[in-house]
Amino acid sequence: MNPAYAANLVNRRDLKPYLSSDQFEFRDSVNRVLTRHASPEYIRHCDEEKRFPQELVDVAAEQGWFGITLPEEHGGIGGYLDMAAYLEIVAYHTIALARFWNANVNMCGGALARFAPEHLKSEVLPKLAAGKAWLAFALSENGSGSDAASLTTHAVADGDDFIINGTKMWISGAVQADYILTAVRTDPNAKKHDGISLFLVPTESKGISINPIDLLGGHAIRTCEVVYDGVRVSKDSIVGGLHVGWKKLTTVLSKERIALSAMCVGGAQAAIDLARWYANERKQFGQSIIDFQTVSHMLADMQTRVDAARMLAFRAAKLLDEGETCDVESSQAKYFASDTYVQVATDGIQIMGANGYSAEYAMQRHFREAKMFQIFGGTNQIQRNIVARALKS
Ligand SMILES: Cc1cc2nc3c(=O)[nH]c(=O)nc-3n(C[C@H](O)[C@H](O)[C@H](O)COP(=O)(O)OP(=O)(O)OC[C@H]3O[C@@H](n4cnc5c(N)ncnc54)[C@H](O)[C@@H]3O)c2cc1C
Repeated sequence: MNPAYAANLVNRRDLKPYLSSDQFEFRDSVNRVLTRHASPEYIRHCDEEKRFPQELVDVAAEQGWFGITLPEEHGGIGGYLDMAAYLEIVAYHTIALARFWNANVNMCGGALARFAPEHLKSEVLPKLAAGKAWLAFALSENGSGSDAASLTTHAVADGDDFIINGTKMWISGAVQADYILTAVRTDPNAKKHDGISLFLVPTESKGISINPIDLLGGHAIRTCEVVYDGVRVSKDSIVGGLHVGWKKLTTVLSKERIALSAMCVGGAQAAIDLARWYANERKQFGQSIIDFQTVSHMLADMQTRVDAARMLAFRAAKLLDEGETCDVESSQAKYFASDTYVQVATDGIQIMGANGYSAEYAMQRHFREAKMFQIFGGTNQIQRNIVARALKS
């Protein structure tokens, strides 16, 4: 693919109201590192072999990228515009690294930084920022997805400890995790949204088993069932206070939507650039297929949608950095960007014909990976519910 396309993404004019020259330079450096270490062949290999991209994660750790948005006193740096600027470029090259970063830093690191007791912060956050400890976030269960607060995994007090029993589903990156931030019911008599607590559970604890699940895409970061069979954890591993975990969780979830929207924009831009390159190269009836108006108009619509999604993503990140509430804006960004990614990948396959459908090209992977984003982080129907609720007067 034409390397000038990635350079265009790094330096987009429409991001000037959002990013400083330092942040543009940072995007440039992320792009240069990933151009070297996340080749299309490597990314394809990890996806096809269901192989964790260890070498790439090591590079990201060396670069200090796992510290982005974490507190400076624990080895972190930067805010949510830095995150969006970074994740867009990462996802352009690799959704796998972007997803792993999001689960570790945004979901778990973010929750620990805000709500964990000091001893847990100083034990875990510097290791996370340095890429020496990994985390996964376990909320969903078989019976509780969109209705996440109806979770049934429970913890019962036993002296200074709690004993956890239950099964979590669809947990991204659990295979690599040293700790799983786990939402459990601690007060069975409280109302649904009350009586939930967050525990930071070491995966080496006796009674934990982690079983990868086969999915349509996202194979490099395995999504897992996690079984807790009488897992004993200290009361000191509670994050955010006993019985009040749900309120804490909701603040983490809106940040996740912004991260996911930036990732969708980067992934969708990569899909467009591939389709654009192909449409310029591919000749039929004696001309490049981009000279057929039906093809060029598809590309025009794809780019316009992605540009709009980008503005929603950066608007939400800016609001968050400025300390404003952005529940609605982050939901808008998440559902619009992921719907856009799916649309762009679908049209990208059409533009590339049989080659778009072939494993030889990345377009089919975009198609499979884009679909995940309409489901996790709260389905797009749930995001629309949030936006619609705000419109009701
Ligand atoms: C690749 C992948 C990775 C994931 N990683 C994690 C992870 O790391 N940690 C974690 O905890 N979870 C994870 N999840 C789980 C994810 O968060 C859930 O799949 C998601 O919340 C939806 O839940 P569900 O699949 O049970 O669907 P359901 O809640 O059963 O929904 C089924 C359908 O009904 C619709 N629906 C449900 N309720 C409503 C409503 N009120 N209004 C309108 N429509 C509604 C949904 O939009 C959906 O279309 C992951 C999922 C995937 C696919």
